[in-house]
Amino acid sequence: MTLQIENIEKSKISNVDFDNLKFGQIFTDHMFECDFENGEWGTPRIRPYQPLLFDPSAKVFHYGQAVFEGMKAYKDDNDDIWLFRPDENQKRINISAERLDMPAFPKDYFFEGLNTLLKMDKEWVKKGGDSALYIRPFIIATENCVSASSSNKYKFMIICSPVQSYYTGEVRVVFADKYSRSADGGVGYAKAAGNYAGSFYPTKLANQEGFQQVVWTDANKHEFLEEAGVMNVFFRVNDTLLTAPTSERILDGVTRKSIIQFAEDKGIKVEVRPVRVTEIVEAARKGELLEMFGAGTAAVISPITGFSNKGESFELPKVENSYATFIKKGITDIQKNIAEDKFGWTVKV
Ligand SMILES: *Cc1c(COP(=O)(O)O)cnc(C)c1O
Repeated sequence: MTLQIENIEKSKISNVDFDNLKFGQIFTDHMFECDFENGEWGTPRIRPYQPLLFDPSAKVFHYGQAVFEGMKAYKDDNDDIWLFRPDENQKRINISAERLDMPAFPKDYFFEGLNTLLKMDKEWVKKGGDSALYIRPFIIATENCVSASSSNKYKFMIICSPVQSYYTGEVRVVFADKYSRSADGGVGYAKAAGNYAGSFYPTKLANQEGFQQVVWTDANKHEFLEEAGVMNVFFRVNDTLLTAPTSERILDGVTRKSIIQFAEDKGIKVEVRPVRVTEIVEAARKGELLEMFGAGTAAVISPITGFSNKGESFELPKVENSYATFIKKGITDIQKNIAEDKFGWTVKV
C-alpha cells in the first residue's frame, strides 16, 4: 500500500492555547483521507488540514449517508503515544457503514493512516492531567447526484483534535417518554450521523426544563432505560451495577464493555440485563439508587446527579466510595499507561 504524504509548511501549533481548549474546536496540522470510486478505495493520503470542496449535490448533504468514530490517544511520561482498543473502533465503523449501505474501509489502510497521522502530529498530543488527542474517523457519501439511492462515491477521513478533560458540569437527565433515538430494525447500533441529528431536538426540550441530557428508553413502550444522551448508561443499585445489553437499538460502546470487564475484575457485581424505568424509580425512592453515570470515549464516565421521570424529580445521594470515580480512575490510568494494562487494551503508536 502506498500512502501519499504532503507535509504542512509551517505548523500552527504555536498559535494554540492548550490550557484553554474547548472540546473539538481545534484540529491538528494534518488529515488523512481516502476516496472510494468505481467500486474501490483509491490511494490514501495525508495532507495539511484544510477545508474540502464539495458539489452542492453531494449525497451526504441530502440523504445523510455518514458514519463516524471517536477515539482518544494519550502520551505517557516517555513520550510514547497510546491508543485504547483501536481495533474496536476500526471494526465498528465498518459495522456502521454496512448498515448505511456504505463500503467497508480496509483495516490495513485504517491503521497505516492512523499511525502515520499520529506520528506526524505527535506534538499535538500533550501529556499530563486529562490531556489527550481526540480522533475522529468518518465516512461520507460524495457522489454528486440528488437521486434517492446509495452513493457510488465515498470519502473516508481521519481528523484529530487536542482535548483536555471533558468536564460536563452537573448532569441531570430526563427519562424519555415521548421521543426515541432508535427503534427495533433501525440504525441505533450504528454510529450514524443521523442518530445525533434526531436526538438534538428532544435534548433541547430537556435543556429548557433544566436537564442536560435525555436517557433514551425503548421506542415501543418507554419501559426500559437504554442510553444516556450519546453515551451508554449504568445504574448502581446498592452495590450492583446495572446496564442494558446491547441490541439493535443500543450502541456497543467500547467504554461500556471496558467498564463491565474492569468492574467485574475488581469484584463489583455487574448485571447486564434490561433495566426497567420502574425499578430505578423504586430504587431511588428507597434510597437504594446510589449512582447513575454515562459511559463514552469523550468523558469516559460522566456522573449523573439526578433525574426526572414523568414530571417527578429525584436527586441522587452523595456517596463515598463512588464506583464512577473508582472505575474512571482505573480505566484512565490504563489509557495513559500509568497503571498496568492486564486486559491488553492499550496499543502503542
Ligand atoms: C459513541 C457512542 C457511545 C459510546 O461509545 P464509546 O465506544 O464508548 O465511545 C454510546 N452511545 C452512542 C449512541 C454513541 O454514539
